[in-house]
Amino acid sequence: MSGQKELKKQDGACPYAKKCGGCTYQGKTYEEQLKIKQKYVSGLLGKFGKVAPILGAECPEHYRNKVHGVFGRDKKGNVFTGIYEENSHRIVPVEDCLIEDERATAILKTLCIMAKQFKLQIYDEDRETGLLRHALIRVGRTTGEIMVVLVLSSPIMPSKNNFTKELCRRHPEITTIVLNVNEKRTSMVLGSRNVVLYGKGYIEDMLCGLRFRISPNSFYQINSEQTERLYRTAIDFAGLTGKERVIDAYCGIGTIGASAAGRAAEVLGVELNKDAVKDAVTNAKINQLKNIRFWNEDAGKYMVRMAENHEHADVVFMDPPRSGSTPEFINSVHTLKPKKVVYVSCDPATLQRDLELFVKKGWKVHKIQPVDMFPYTGHVEVVTCLQRVNS
Ligand code: SAH
Repeated sequence: MSGQKELKKQDGACPYAKKCGGCTYQGKTYEEQLKIKQKYVSGLLGKFGKVAPILGAECPEHYRNKVHGVFGRDKKGNVFTGIYEENSHRIVPVEDCLIEDERATAILKTLCIMAKQFKLQIYDEDRETGLLRHALIRVGRTTGEIMVVLVLSSPIMPSKNNFTKELCRRHPEITTIVLNVNEKRTSMVLGSRNVVLYGKGYIEDMLCGLRFRISPNSFYQINSEQTERLYRTAIDFAGLTGKERVIDAYCGIGTIGASAAGRAAEVLGVELNKDAVKDAVTNAKINQLKNIRFWNEDAGKYMVRMAENHEHADVVFMDPPRSGSTPEFINSVHTLKPKKVVYVSCDPATLQRDLELFVKKGWKVHKIQPVDMFPYTGHVEVVTCLQRVNS
């Protein structure tokens, strides 16, 4: 968690915790974890208003619907998957992870066996040789659909068809397999090119009673169960009556906007990632939502244009990445004068920075609700509701 300097890594149950760096709270009970997060959020945001008690997860383990493994090879020639050691490019082998979906973990193990069996070369980052780089697995927690994305350094995969057949035979629960081409020397997992090897090339999942299509490159919240609580809180804060014009900024595949559409007159979504916007448009169709439209654009630029054109908006949902929003975006929201801004944040430190700017412009933070989307890790999500003081 950026800015969360006071939190120290704990020794504990997971053998990989120290090297992996993912789970800050190994060895702490879940109750203790929630207390620490509550204190952290209160410390940062308490000056803006009362921080409500954090919404903890019912099942704090094996919640991750997206699992990523980097391929490596040990001295004996065995293939393993793991994660990059914190601040390095060394791969720490991880066989069983406490927070990952167990179906995905099992598939990762099979991929290692099959990589050896099919003699697939493992990518070497330093030498830039080899083929197999990463595997990304996504599980639709409600639908049970499973997508396996094999990230390769080239589109040419030897024995592609036999590999696909064998993987499906071993894991009939897999609904789609995609080959993603990442030829670059980069820390980004996915390249931009996808070749469908099996199935539809995407999975679908349900959130808040709606169906969503998720493509390999689109953002999708990694804890589906807690996401529903997060969205319900956000929509509740917005206090929609059915008459409002709503903006869903940083909308991803349109999940917040779609969940709000039934209670609003119109929803406008804006998102930078082209694939996510395509999914968002499809999602509106799948759910027969006729009052929602999407723009593939930088949210800041979109907001500036809305303000310059004297457009009108009643509620702005904003859910930026960890880096937070921008003064450009916030200044334009201020000009637009919506009745409410509902800010969903995955980093309380950047949220604090952005709230300062809102407050300086005459806004008041009315509600602050932390939600534990990422048990065992140092991350915490917060929903806040802002209103203009004199309007
Ligand atoms: N609201 C969505 C996505 C939140 S994640 C959900 O709940 O699933 C943040 C999203 O912001 C990502 O989809 C990312 O692609 C998008 N994003 C990042 N920078 C952006 C920018 N400058 N303008 C618009 N969208 C941006």
